[in-house]
Amino acid sequence: MEEDAWKDAFQNEIIIRNISHFWSLDIEESFQKHPSWLQYTVYSFARFCCQLCGRRWASAKVHILFQIRLMRKTGQVMMHVFKQRCKLCNAAYYEQPEFIPENIEIALTMLVNRICEKFYNIPKENLPSRSFIRDGRQEGPHDSSNCEGCAHGVCHQNSNQGNVQYYRPRVTGTEWDRRYQNNRYTDQYDQDSGSCCNCCVIL
Ligand SMILES: [Zn+2]
Ligand SMILES: [Zn+2]
Repeated sequence: MEEDAWKDAFQNEIIIRNISHFWSLDIEESFQKHPSWLQYTVYSFARFCCQLCGRRWASAKVHILFQIRLMRKTGQVMMHVFKQRCKLCNAAYYEQPEFIPENIEIALTMLVNRICEKFYNIPKENLPSRSFIRDGRQEGPHDSSNCEGCAHGVCHQNSNQGNVQYYRPRVTGTEWDRRYQNNRYTDQYDQDSGSCCNCCVIL
């Protein structure tokens, strides 16, 4: 993961929005929950390459979890990207996704939108709207058995199969509240909708 690319793009976005507090972003290699932090999920498009057989694949459902808090005028974001495994090799090893720079920027625009809404009370209609860039055609359902997010039970499963708009970032907080109010993510867990179906692309 290009940690510097994520950190630089995040700081640029904070500066562009004229946010006065200091904010930092760090990547956590292993998934851990920070209780009471605001949680925000986006599903982005990214590519993978198997280190064992060289197979390449892409997914429009690469799960990025941002955990966010603002304390004593200092903001903090811990980020985890859930990895995927090659379905041919079926090894225990999960591969890191590769994001194009535009999708890093878009994910961070969405993150800073959420920060602006939740911590600075900026109305959503005043915030920029962006969609992830993808290419290739969809083939096959989300490969849950080889997804780190699914292994942790945090991938969002829904049933809007065949909706080609599924990958677009849409905040559906009400739906999320309804679906997940009784599960482990009962604290402020924000969710962008995304189908688990037909989101893998064979390159
Ligand atoms: Zn492989
Ligand atoms: Zn998954």
